[in-house]
Amino acid sequence: DVKRDPKIQVARLKLPILGEEQRIMELVNENEFLIVAGETGSGKTTQIPQFLYEAGYAERKMIAVTEPRRVATVAMSARVAYELGLTSKEVSYLMRFEGNVTKDTKIKFMTDGVLLKEIQTDFLLSKYSVVIIDEAHERSVYTDILLGLLSRIVPIRRKRGNPLRLIIMSATLRVEDFTENKRLFKEAPPLIKIDSRQFPVTIHFNKHTYSDYLKEAYKKTVKIHTRLPEGGILIFVTGQQEVRYLVRKLKASFPYRKDVDYTKLITRKAVNENDAALDSEPEDIDSDDDEVEKEMKRARKARRKAKLKAKALPKINLDDYDMPEDDGQADLVGSDDDSEGHLSDSDVEDDTLTPAIKSCRQPLWVLPLYSMLSSSKQARVFEPPPTGARLCVVSTDVAETSLTIPSIKYVVDTGKKKMRVYDHVTGASAWRVVWVSQAGAAQRAGRAGRTGAGHAYRLYSAPVFANDLPAHHAPDLCRRPADDIVLLMKCMSIDKVVNFPFPTAPDRMQLRLAEKRLQVLGILETPENKEGRRKDDEEVLKVTPLGKAVSAFPLLPRYGKMLALSHQQNLLPYTIALVSALTVPEVMSGKAECWPAAGQTLLLGDPGVLLRAVGAAEYAHLKGEEELFCAKHGLREKAIKEIRKLRKQLTTEINLSVPGVDVKIDPEMKPPDENQARLLRQLVLSGLGDQVGRKIGLDEVKEGEDKRKYKYAYHCGELEEPVHLHSESILRKAIPEWVVYQELYETGAEERRKMVMRNVTAIEPEWLPVFVPQ
Ligand code: ADP
Ligand code: MG
Repeated sequence: DVKRDPKIQVARLKLPILGEEQRIMELVNENEFLIVAGETGSGKTTQIPQFLYEAGYAERKMIAVTEPRRVATVAMSARVAYELGLTSKEVSYLMRFEGNVTKDTKIKFMTDGVLLKEIQTDFLLSKYSVVIIDEAHERSVYTDILLGLLSRIVPIRRKRGNPLRLIIMSATLRVEDFTENKRLFKEAPPLIKIDSRQFPVTIHFNKHTYSDYLKEAYKKTVKIHTRLPEGGILIFVTGQQEVRYLVRKLKASFPYRKDVDYTKLITRKAVNENDAALDSEPEDIDSDDDEVEKEMKRARKARRKAKLKAKALPKINLDDYDMPEDDGQADLVGSDDDSEGHLSDSDVEDDTLTPAIKSCRQPLWVLPLYSMLSSSKQARVFEPPPTGARLCVVSTDVAETSLTIPSIKYVVDTGKKKMRVYDHVTGASAWRVVWVSQAGAAQRAGRAGRTGAGHAYRLYSAPVFANDLPAHHAPDLCRRPADDIVLLMKCMSIDKVVNFPFPTAPDRMQLRLAEKRLQVLGILETPENKEGRRKDDEEVLKVTPLGKAVSAFPLLPRYGKMLALSHQQNLLPYTIALVSALTVPEVMSGKAECWPAAGQTLLLGDPGVLLRAVGAAEYAHLKGEEELFCAKHGLREKAIKEIRKLRKQLTTEINLSVPGVDVKIDPEMKPPDENQARLLRQLVLSGLGDQVGRKIGLDEVKEGEDKRKYKYAYHCGELEEPVHLHSESILRKAIPEWVVYQELYETGAEERRKMVMRNVTAIEPEWLPVFVPQ
């Protein structure tokens, strides 16, 4: 009884997956587990939930679809609702901070973390008839845990006569971690491969690999736009700053003006495409970078053959590239969030391109895409560009597999992405720009072949691709500290975390270290009788009562602990605001200077600054001046909005779960007084007590070393090298003897590399035995 718009019907029929509906549904009906693999854009996410809906899977219970990315959760639920002719009441989404689920919801898109939380209160997922784990190839932490749990939940549901289906969807065929892991699935689940309407994508490597990949990306895009036929351009860069920078640059080069009629231009351009423009030799050929020109020659040749037939190729041919030359400068520039800020316009100025830019009258419709961008702005990439303009999307790797942007013909791939790299010993982390994997590069290239034959321009050489790009990156779960995972599992009565059926098991040592940190925080028990202990790895550490309270909060254990302790001192409203602010990334971009502090408030340090910034932003919001306020004080507006949502959510949850507590959010919350600020310092210590630093005395500095370098330097844990107060830390004004910090990370490239601590609070040494008993 589904009534689809005829237009949608036509679009759907073009997807080969439609022809597989019967086979897929037979496999679903006859099996508890099913793996579906198919190229991005083949219709997995939008069509399979519809097949299930039409087969009656949503009649009594719901269909769950999990996504690792928030972007996809919103976009895909809207798309499926639209295709089914239903509203967001029936096809809804739910993620942290946001959702539109109703009692009539039939298909529920959610982030993987949300489903994991639901398992904690309803282990058998009794509301659902089928769970689809989408983008399983991304191997996000929560997805991996969900797979392990569902491999056990499904058989239990069968035994209870109330079967549950699990469908694992992957954009790559590399599914051995799921099919060949006997602990996960005793028998390999059936695998169905979806053919996709993938047109041939020609891969072009650069001859040389330059470190300034942004400049290369800009140049390549200019060449494509000024010389190659119609078709959208998708550019992959590493982060939000780079996206915004390139968007600004490209817009300035090929501006779109509302008052100009571009329709005439288009006709002329279309004529040009067929004769003149491409037949005349381009004025400037960049000596070592002439793929575009080669491509033009190829296009000309093809035209002479009369017709360019688009043959469907099963996949991108990686061997189809120009003969590579030896690459002199394979390089990988370490970079962090800060260093992106140094981009100046002159960095990418290239005079040789100026004539081409000047003579090009077609505007470029340039849109940004990154996860922190608001949902409404993200949605713009799905709309066609205005008549006469060429679409150009500058994106981080969110466009790699989760979203299909229509009519992309050219992909410009920097080959880089940002990855959070952890030091397992120190717990320090750093955002590094790293090579994408070869698999990731193939995914990126594939984006060019959805609506016709396309081209992928890789801004690195073929030898770099072959030798420097890893085949795959290790799954997230194996790359990061496991504290919250360990606590989560223990609270779900999975005592022996090492025995859990992970798709790829994390290192045992990492699990041990996580347990150790949780012990220090008093969240896991420390066995009293040390002599009677069994061997280390056989030991089962139970969750303490404090740990149970902590796990109830949707936060990392250390923040949960701060909250769990703070109702004692009537500090909850402050702690809620503080924890919310600490768990949302990149709240402040400016200096702390505009938030002066003294006394206890100064000693509360950067968390105190955050607290006051959030309080003041709330007040500005009340007066309807939030946007202006955030801009003026260097606060990221979306972060402030997220903090507000998190404050509300935490307040509600605490009121519901802690008897006798009734916290209200006071939009006019005053900054904490001296006594409160002192108590808050202790609460911060209680949560960060395993991350203590002590000032390095200037008398400890070795003879001949520059003492100035040690002005803000601390000893931290077992770390040998000094760790510095963040350059924007307000505690640079106090330089206290003892501190705790939220995060340790590396910054700067090469010889400027150093360790820095962020969000620092001053503590008193006599508090340590009380709050950190070990
Ligand atoms: P997969 O999950 O296999 O990557 P999708 O189901 O997301 O594929 O997409 C299938 C097709 O639906 C895409 O090729 C695209 O053309 C179309 N599509 C998906 N989302 C949208 C949208 N928001 N607007 C227009 N077309 C879309
Ligand atoms: Mg998908």
